Amino acid sequence: MLLIENFINGSYCAPLDSTYLDNVNPATGIVISKIPRSNKKDIDLAVQSAQAAFPNWSASSQESRFLILNKIAEGIESHLNELALAETNDTGKAISHSRQIDIPRAASNFRFFATAAMQFASESHDMPKRAINYTLRQPIGIVGCISPWNLPLYLFTWKIAPALATGNCVIAKPSELSPTTAFLLGKICKEAGLPDGVLNIIQGYGTEVGEAIIQHPDIKAISFTGGTKTGKHIATQVASKFKKLSLELGGKNPCLVFADCDYEQTLKQVVRLAFSNSGQICLCGSRILIEERIYEQFKKDFIAKVDKMLPSDPLDPDCKMGSLISNEHLNKVLNYIELAKEEGGSILSGGTQIKLSGRCEGGSFIKPCVIEGLGPDCRTNMEEIFGPVVTLQSFKTDEQALELANCSQYGLASSIWTTNLNRAHRLAEQIQTGIVWINCWLLRDLRTPFGGLNNSGVGREGGYEAMRFFTEPKNICINYNSNL
Ligand code: NAD
Repeated sequence: MLLIENFINGSYCAPLDSTYLDNVNPATGIVISKIPRSNKKDIDLAVQSAQAAFPNWSASSQESRFLILNKIAEGIESHLNELALAETNDTGKAISHSRQIDIPRAASNFRFFATAAMQFASESHDMPKRAINYTLRQPIGIVGCISPWNLPLYLFTWKIAPALATGNCVIAKPSELSPTTAFLLGKICKEAGLPDGVLNIIQGYGTEVGEAIIQHPDIKAISFTGGTKTGKHIATQVASKFKKLSLELGGKNPCLVFADCDYEQTLKQVVRLAFSNSGQICLCGSRILIEERIYEQFKKDFIAKVDKMLPSDPLDPDCKMGSLISNEHLNKVLNYIELAKEEGGSILSGGTQIKLSGRCEGGSFIKPCVIEGLGPDCRTNMEEIFGPVVTLQSFKTDEQALELANCSQYGLASSIWTTNLNRAHRLAEQIQTGIVWINCWLLRDLRTPFGGLNNSGVGREGGYEAMRFFTEPKNICINYNSNL
């Protein structure tokens, strides 16, 4: 059985207390590896190694960081098969998803921020005939990066790459449910020439080792992606320590379908945005709002497609939908479906646990679920389920659509499906989400600001937003007028 280790000061090592956790493959229910149950002592050691590495790394040239980050990208690509298999075995997601989306995107993250290191410029502010200001954007020091299980290496590297590109040293923690690709990344970074101590990868429970990261006085910034409840806890903990904080949290994303949409294309894309990665993407649409004129037809056609979707063995190359992340999460999703019934909802498709035979007989599979008959302010439509569960609601006017869309404590992403671009622009301006997709979903340009409002988080990732987050601006004012 694979024994996963921490990666500290450029070497793999056991947790100092020699305690381990089981890592279960959710598609089979079988323990596939042991992972370190690290704690504060391991974080202290990692911080020491990061402190030793910081002076040289922060003073290294942009070009040398660019070259190393690019090599890491190449290393990820050359280990595509190994990484994709690890991702699928940890999470139960379809192998095609790991191969075509998760791992290639992890490589793109490094390549993108390698070039950002070369292009990132600071500002200058001129005071005519008097003085000039210029801003230095200096690395913060040691930063903590904490990521979730749904897109493991994809989101882990989305934080680490800009932190390294800007000259910081990093203490990074993947989810305890998806440890393996983060573990493998250590070796890839070493082979790419990343100096020892610059990136330290520590495994274990959020409440233990994650907590040690956010509490550590020498870790000056925290970049966190995960649940809203955890984000709220972290925000309260780090506020009094004055750490820089970026929070990318949950969502309850609306999808607005208008009668004048490109019907076939919309139908296909709504199925995709609802159920990709078994609905376990923070950007998935879970509240499908349909214009009344086409509601019945769209519902019928949508259900016909969803009825055909069956989860299967994620290692099957033709698998479109694998398992959920864990049995515990499966039960949470099933409980929400029961709640939807209690709240008066009708199940139009799926929503039941699926038992596969053979290798996957112990796996956590569920048939995607479509619910109708619920108003906007019931718990089913207010709380994040984070599984393959969507509700359908109808609207008559643009105003009603907007009201339904904005009836949420979350504000991460939305999508609008219409051929009327005036309407699309008008609604996009008024919808309360950090990201609005018009006639598309998950079309990502890594330069754009990424993040949400309200319970979906604070701050933005992506492009120069991330480069700014991971740097401390310092203004320098030079007077050149001797008459001052
Ligand atoms: P989670 O909050 O349970 O865990 C996220 C990470 O935080 C894990 O590594 C976990 O170990 C760690 N953690 C837990 N408690 C901690 C603590 N007290 N201190 C420090 N770290 C701690 O979330 P999850 O279940 O892994 O992920 C699912 C959630 O993530 C969903 O809500 C989803 O919407 C959200 N998500 C958001 C985005 C985004 O970009 N907005 C992207 C992906 C996932």
